[in-house]
Amino acid sequence: MFSNKDILRFANLETPFYYYDLNLLQTTLTSCAEAAKLYNFHVHYAMKANFNASLLQQIKAIGFGADCVSGGEVNEAIQTGFAKEQIVFAGVGKSDKEINLALDQDIFCFNVESVQELEVINELAGKKGKKARVAIRINPNVDAHTHHNITTGLDENKFGVNSWDLSACAEVLRASANLEFIGIHFHIGSQITNLDVYKNLCVRVNEFAFWFEERGFPVKVLNVGGGLGIDYHNPDQQVPDFGSYFKIFSEFLEIKPGQEVHFELGRALVGQSASLISRVLYVKNGKKKNFVILDAGMTELMRPALYQAYHKIENLTRGSEVALKYDIVGPICESTDCFGKEVEQPETFRGDLFAIRSAGAYGEVMASKYNLRDEIRSVYSEEV
Ligand SMILES: *Cc1c(COP(=O)(O)O)cnc(C)c1O
Repeated sequence: MFSNKDILRFANLETPFYYYDLNLLQTTLTSCAEAAKLYNFHVHYAMKANFNASLLQQIKAIGFGADCVSGGEVNEAIQTGFAKEQIVFAGVGKSDKEINLALDQDIFCFNVESVQELEVINELAGKKGKKARVAIRINPNVDAHTHHNITTGLDENKFGVNSWDLSACAEVLRASANLEFIGIHFHIGSQITNLDVYKNLCVRVNEFAFWFEERGFPVKVLNVGGGLGIDYHNPDQQVPDFGSYFKIFSEFLEIKPGQEVHFELGRALVGQSASLISRVLYVKNGKKKNFVILDAGMTELMRPALYQAYHKIENLTRGSEVALKYDIVGPICESTDCFGKEVEQPETFRGDLFAIRSAGAYGEVMASKYNLRDEIRSVYSEEV
C-alpha cells in the first residue's frame, strides 16, 4: 500500500525504477529471525533472490548467513561482511575457478551436487593442502507442487545427487583425505505455498540422515534449503508466516542432540519489499484488446515472461475503481513482454503511474540490457 506522499514522490521521479520499502524489509527480517530463534535454527539468505547492496547490508546486520550459487556471490557476500563461517555455496556447475576461490576464502561449506564434483573439490583442496567442508545436496524426489519451471527436487531435475548415487558418494567421501563431510542439503523448489510439502521433505531428510549415520558418517548439519512462498495476490499482506513454517521442521525433523538445522530463504525475506514503478507511455484501445504500454518491460522484471508469473498490478494515479480490461505490456520487441493479460483497471491514460507489486525477489537481479535498455534504478523508502 502506498501513501499519497509516496505517490507524490514517485510523480517527480524518472521511471521505471524499483522502489524498496526498507521498513517492511526490516519487519520481515525481524519476524523471521525471532521465529527461527525459538528453535535455534540457522538462516542463510539466498543471495540470488536479490543482491542489491542496501538489502544485503540490512540482512547481514540481522545476523543471517549467505547462501551463494556462484563465485561472484561468494565474493559479494564476503565484501558485504557476511561471516565466512556462515557462507554456503551450492550449484550444479561450480567451475574450478569458483571452487578455488571458495577454498581460499575458507567458507563454511560446499553443498555438493554430484559424485564428480566431490572428486574435483577433493583434488583442488588437496593441491592447497586444505580440507573442504562438504554437505551432500540430495535430490529427495519430493514434489514441491509449484510451477514446473521452479521445481528442483524431482528425479527429472538436474539438481543434487540422486538416491541411487549416494553409495558412490559415500565411497568417495571415505577415500578422500581432503574432504570433511558435515551434513546433508536439500532444496526442492521455490514459491512453495503448500506447507504439507515440507512435511514430506522432513520424512525424506530423516531417512537420508539415518542412511549416512548408519554408514559411519555423523550428520552435523541438516540443511533443508528454502522455497517458502509469498502471497502475490495480496501484496499488502506482507510478512510470510515464518512461525508455521519453522514449526513444521521442529515437529517433523528428528533432530539429534548437537545437530544443527539450516535454512536458505530468499523470496520469503525480500519478495514483498519492492515494487516496480512505471509510467504509462501509451494506451491503445483495440477491437479485441485494450493495451496499456508501460515504460518498464521484461528487461526490468522478467518473471512473467520467464515463467508466467503473476504480479498484482495497480494504477497509482486513478485509484482502484475498475472500468476496463487491459493487457499490461512493456516496450520490448517480444510478444512475451507482458505483465498481465485482461487485467481489470480503472480507465487509464498516458502518464499514469503503475506499480507492479511483490517484485523484491528475482526482479532487479534478473534485469538485462536486451534492446540496450538503460540500467534499472532503485529508490528507497529512506535515504541510504
Ligand atoms: C534459490 C535457492 C534458494 C532460495 O530459494 P527461495 O525460493 O528464494 O527461497 C535456496 N537454496 C538454494 C540452493 C537455491 O538455489
